[in-house]
Amino acid sequence: MVKAFLEMDYLGRQSRVAAALRAQKHDGALITHLPNVRYLCGFTGSAGVLAVSVDKSSHQCAFFSDGRYIQQAKEQVKGARVEIPKTAAISAAAGWLTKRKKGARVAFEAEHMTVASRGGLGKIASHLALRPTSGLVERLRAVKEPCEVAQIRAAVELASGVFEAVLPDIRSGATEAGIAAEIEYMSRRLGAEGMSFDTLVAAGKRSALPHGVASQNPLPERGFVILDFGVILGGYCSDMTRTVHLGRPDRAARKMYQAVLEAQLAGIKAVTPGAKCAEVDNAARKVLVKAGLGEYFTHSTGHGVGIEIHEMPGIRKEAKPAKQSRKRANRIKKQAGTQFDTLLPGMVITIEPGVYIGGKGGVRIEDMVVVTETGCEVLTPTRKDLIVI
Ligand code: ZN
Ligand code: ZN
Repeated sequence: MVKAFLEMDYLGRQSRVAAALRAQKHDGALITHLPNVRYLCGFTGSAGVLAVSVDKSSHQCAFFSDGRYIQQAKEQVKGARVEIPKTAAISAAAGWLTKRKKGARVAFEAEHMTVASRGGLGKIASHLALRPTSGLVERLRAVKEPCEVAQIRAAVELASGVFEAVLPDIRSGATEAGIAAEIEYMSRRLGAEGMSFDTLVAAGKRSALPHGVASQNPLPERGFVILDFGVILGGYCSDMTRTVHLGRPDRAARKMYQAVLEAQLAGIKAVTPGAKCAEVDNAARKVLVKAGLGEYFTHSTGHGVGIEIHEMPGIRKEAKPAKQSRKRANRIKKQAGTQFDTLLPGMVITIEPGVYIGGKGGVRIEDMVVVTETGCEVLTPTRKDLIVI
């Protein structure tokens, strides 16, 4: 796996971000969001800024960090000179861009900057024309390279093994938090660097909470248990949900599980290059509506996954423009323009419909799939028939 990770195409990514900057008539960019820094130059530490400078036909990158990361930056950073300045990394990066071109039009990552940092940057970079951008690197990240898919597949398979291994621990009397701890312990033992997000274990009536963080509550004798978790391996996340049933499920519970499973399969079937994300959402949603459960499916059908757990594209209903001023409509359109609405080969997404009935319980089934040239491949190998414990 380490081998796959080393083969990542940092230079190609830097060329692509340079092309995007040129197309948007920027002279450079300050990349401050660490997952984007990692994506573009390979640095995995917790402090660093990548400055990108472009002209008509070429580009250059410089990476700035602090004394803690001298060694690591030298080892990891690809395609960029490494600078360990005495001042803050961001000021040095802005200084480097200013030196290259006074008054340069420099993109910054508006979604990842606080109002305070923006204020500070304005003072530091007074000789640059700072321009807010959104999704500059995230758009590139949405389409995965083969080595990224390989890394994601490894993370998915590790998590799938953890699910199998934790099944014997799921019994009435065990606590949700205890099962979550077991999942996380096993993940680390099997080589995960960490969890993609706080492990969700929600049993019985709590399974009706779509985002039920594991509590100290013991599992009931009867009812659904939703397990939603993911691991990070080689810097890439996985995400899976399975719902099992404690005790004999009644007819309503079986019907509910079956409907979610059919919705999930319909969603997967709709995943093909060129399909609209909203169509995929609709394919899954339609099944639940037909089963009379549409009102209980309260979230979107899926999301992209990669270095971060939630990436582009969002697999959701099309945002309907309500009556609004033209200015607001344009703003929404502009924001939507930074999102993808169509699936492309290489995108890795989740398909995770769910049904949540307050006071009763819930079901969610989530797989990760990769969009291929002809359709999609389900990465998650775990079985999906109802497991009764
Ligand atoms: Zn999940
Ligand atoms: Zn998910």
